[in-house]
Amino acid sequence: MAFGVGNGYVAGMSCPSLTGPVGLTVLGSGSNGNALVLQAAGFTLLIDAGFSGIELRRRLEAAGLAAVRIDAMLVTHEHDDHVKGLRVTAKHFTAPAYCSRLTGEALRSRGDAPETLHLFTPGAAFALGPFEISPFSIPHDAIDPVAFGIQIGAFKLGLATDLGHVSHLVARHLRDCDLLLVESNHDLKMLRDSARPWNLKKRILGNHGHLSNDACADLLRQVLHPRTRHLVLAHASRDCNRSDLAEACARQCIASLGRTDLVPMVARQDACLPTLWL
Ligand SMILES: [Zn+2]
Ligand SMILES: [Zn+2]
Repeated sequence: MAFGVGNGYVAGMSCPSLTGPVGLTVLGSGSNGNALVLQAAGFTLLIDAGFSGIELRRRLEAAGLAAVRIDAMLVTHEHDDHVKGLRVTAKHFTAPAYCSRLTGEALRSRGDAPETLHLFTPGAAFALGPFEISPFSIPHDAIDPVAFGIQIGAFKLGLATDLGHVSHLVARHLRDCDLLLVESNHDLKMLRDSARPWNLKKRILGNHGHLSNDACADLLRQVLHPRTRHLVLAHASRDCNRSDLAEACARQCIASLGRTDLVPMVARQDACLPTLWL
């Protein structure tokens, strides 16, 4: 297994100028599996691989991406709903995976690390194909979890799930995005009323758990920008949220900001969303 920083893809900080559109496809998102595909300039990036290898390929096919070759993979953290199919998918596409050092060690110690693993440092941006990737630390109960700001040509994307709360760092990285994908995990009342054990409720509600619909709306109030054209609400809890509640909460926030042009999409656990284009 290669373990280090730098390979043919990492070529300093300058990104080539962008030709053609940028597409983000949510293959699925929720407590039982997360995976996103980001495409631009002929380069395809898989962000998290939280479904089995077979299921991931089935979803690529369902999204019309069967012929696509994954060039590289980014990993947010070592929880199973983000890395279940990492090793086998990396092998299938002979694609290198990128994660933080501690996440890499956690994956390696349990035999889940792919053959080629490159390490990044949260807070230090790097170039990967046509993308400039800015991994940043997020408050969540994993060893070294990150979310990503991604610059591509003139576009900025912010992709952040698994957030216990919105730190200043998180808000700073998600500001002014053209496309924003953020966690809207649970409805507070549904979670409190659920039959889940108290310890689990405490974990989800805690500072290093997951973001409620209300907390997501607070985040949107801080970071939405007139240039934000796409908003995806992601990583919904299966038992403690409903897509109509998550959507209504975000819509109310968007309306309070005087926006009538931005319609949030709610990511699904069981199916992919249509590709969003910039
Ligand atoms: Zn997690
Ligand atoms: Zn997760």
